[in-house]
Amino acid sequence: MEEAAAPPQKRFYRQRAHANPLADHTLRYPARPQDMDWAPLFPAFFPPAAPPAQPPPRVEFADVGCGYGGLLVELSPLFPRTLMLGLELRVKVAAFAGERIRALRAAQPGRFGNVACLRANAMKHLPHFFRKAQLSKMFFLFPDPHFKRTKHKWRIISPTLLAEYGYVLRPGGADPIVARLGTSTEEGRKVQRGGRRIFPAVFRRLQDPAAGGDT
Ligand code: SAM
Repeated sequence: MEEAAAPPQKRFYRQRAHANPLADHTLRYPARPQDMDWAPLFPAFFPPAAPPAQPPPRVEFADVGCGYGGLLVELSPLFPRTLMLGLELRVKVAAFAGERIRALRAAQPGRFGNVACLRANAMKHLPHFFRKAQLSKMFFLFPDPHFKRTKHKWRIISPTLLAEYGYVLRPGGADPIVARLGTSTEEGRKVQRGGRRIFPAVFRRLQDPAAGGDT
């Protein structure tokens, strides 16, 4: 049985606000999505004795730049059979989110097995983790705006990257999650505390016009 772990304390996981997404971080990522071993991240969904007859479960929601993991924790009980992955570039922040989830799993057995956080650079490695049209939702909550022109290349939303997001997303979208987008993460709560406004934007992945069903 997993030993009950105390929830992590943020003061031990603080890190500079930004990590350079273009730098060569030491990151592990699979050559192709089919090479990724998801079992260590979602052990409850990959029991060792499971019959191999069924196709393995796949991650379906991605929280890009998940920070401390607030959205994953909020969505986990709403979609208990859906695997959700947070991708976070900053080492300590990703470690915090992972510890947070581990502590929740230990404290509430049977819950939070469907969420996990991976230290990863979503700007560089998304297609290494996800197949074409694998994801039904992607979240980008409070992505760093990088106002300075010289830092625009660090933005997680850009025309080039939109093409990648279109590749991993399946057509469809928009649902009850929308109401929670501004309030569930640490950054969202900060904005609310400061009495500032939140400007949510929701986009639906359209069918490719000439794809003939192949999205
Ligand atoms: N979504 C969280 C929230 O609402 O509290 C965190 C918002 S924070 C302003 C933006 C996060 O995106 C940071 O934690 C940052 O490290 C992460 N990030 C930025 N670029 C990234 C990238 N290329 N890959 C993964 N994470 C990234």
